[in-house]
Amino acid sequence: MAEIPYKIFLEESEMPKAWHNVRAVMKELPDPFISPATGKACTADDLRPVFCDDLIAQELNTTDEYIEIPEEIRSFYKMYRPSPLVRAYNLEKALDTPAKIYYKFEGNNTSGSHKLNSAAAQVYYAKKQGLTSLTTETGAGQWGTALSMACAFYGMDLTVYMVKVSAEQKPHRRAVIETYGGKVIPSPSDTTEVGRRILAENPGTGGSLGCAISEAMETALKTEGCRYVLGSVLNHVLVHQTIIGQETYAACKKYGIEPDMIIGCAGGGSNLGGLISPFMADYIQGKNNIDFVAVEPASCPSLTRGRYAFDFGDTGKMTPLMRMYTLGSGFMPSPNHAGGLRYHGMSPILSKLYHDGYMRAVSCEQTKVFEAAVKFARVEGTLPAPESSHAIKAAMDEAIRCRETGEAKTILFGLTGTGYFDMTAYQAYLNGTMTDYIPTDEDLERGFATLPKINF
Ligand SMILES: *Cc1c(COP(=O)(O)O)cnc(C)c1O
Repeated sequence: MAEIPYKIFLEESEMPKAWHNVRAVMKELPDPFISPATGKACTADDLRPVFCDDLIAQELNTTDEYIEIPEEIRSFYKMYRPSPLVRAYNLEKALDTPAKIYYKFEGNNTSGSHKLNSAAAQVYYAKKQGLTSLTTETGAGQWGTALSMACAFYGMDLTVYMVKVSAEQKPHRRAVIETYGGKVIPSPSDTTEVGRRILAENPGTGGSLGCAISEAMETALKTEGCRYVLGSVLNHVLVHQTIIGQETYAACKKYGIEPDMIIGCAGGGSNLGGLISPFMADYIQGKNNIDFVAVEPASCPSLTRGRYAFDFGDTGKMTPLMRMYTLGSGFMPSPNHAGGLRYHGMSPILSKLYHDGYMRAVSCEQTKVFEAAVKFARVEGTLPAPESSHAIKAAMDEAIRCRETGEAKTILFGLTGTGYFDMTAYQAYLNGTMTDYIPTDEDLERGFATLPKINF
């Protein structure tokens, strides 16, 4: 077996030619989406006014374990892939742990995160279908940036509804989106009916991802040649993100690395779902015994404290109903939460795997997450995104546990992005002004009260 380098990069000839679709091997499938209009399972025709045709096919594909990555998308990926699988030797040393720690780093592109993996695919398919413009929402801004880059590359107009607090907190993020040609509208806005309604009901609101999704969907429905695209949660997004898992899987096979534990942060679940997908397929078939762990913020705890229920993907209740772990589409995360991952729901695929006991979930408070982020930055060099730092925190906790038990576990985690645009949050942590917010049971009940009646 080849000696393990500090950073593992696959050769071009070793790059995956297909995405992975774990649904093809799941013993039970996630529930189908339900159309709120008919109360029946959504068909491709129900989804066509909102989504691109090829993406709908991927969304509903539960049978093909491998989905070929078109040549054009593979050549886009060549601009920034493969991403490195890094052995965290310095972190291991700093923690004095017998554990071996690896991380797959997705922040090596200008958008700064894994989101570009799906943006490239979604814009390619939209272009292929002859569409002329796209709308989307962005929270922390990574998705809007990634999509703007992909739209510039393929020649597609883009309108980004950016959660108002993020647009205010991250003016540079907005400027990057605009540099690549995307138009940014802080949400809620007065440009849509749903935005005007939300503003009337909550005048001072800083917005939420759910509101921004409703606005972007409304605009897509009302604009000729326009479709809505989403950066997480949906099955096709998770499928695109399996490029992360496919590369990691190939690198592990090449160097004989056998992870005992795979950890990822979970907002809507796409990076974690993408990272674990091929490993999970093996696990389901009894070929490994990996402990899969989702890490979420204590302030937005959809897996650890949410309900497994049919819910809308957006605050305006325009999406199909998806069965997922959710805090209710009306849940509004605390505005003092700086660490991203503020979506109310979770990927239906991950939700099903979690519900059926194939993986675990833990939650972390944001000050603990930033403490881990700063430690990681100082020893490993890379400045991690706050979202990614949830995974760092869990990996470090496990490595410390290994120091106490003497176990030489192999821990692998997804490092989804860089933190360059999150310096306000880092500063708050360093100044000691960052606070933790954990919703009370009553806060959560208010969100659950917004779940659609279909559940009762
Ligand atoms: C969007 C984002 C996440 C969370 O999204 P998932 O769909 O859960 O992967 C995590 N890390 C970074 C850097 C992000 O931009």
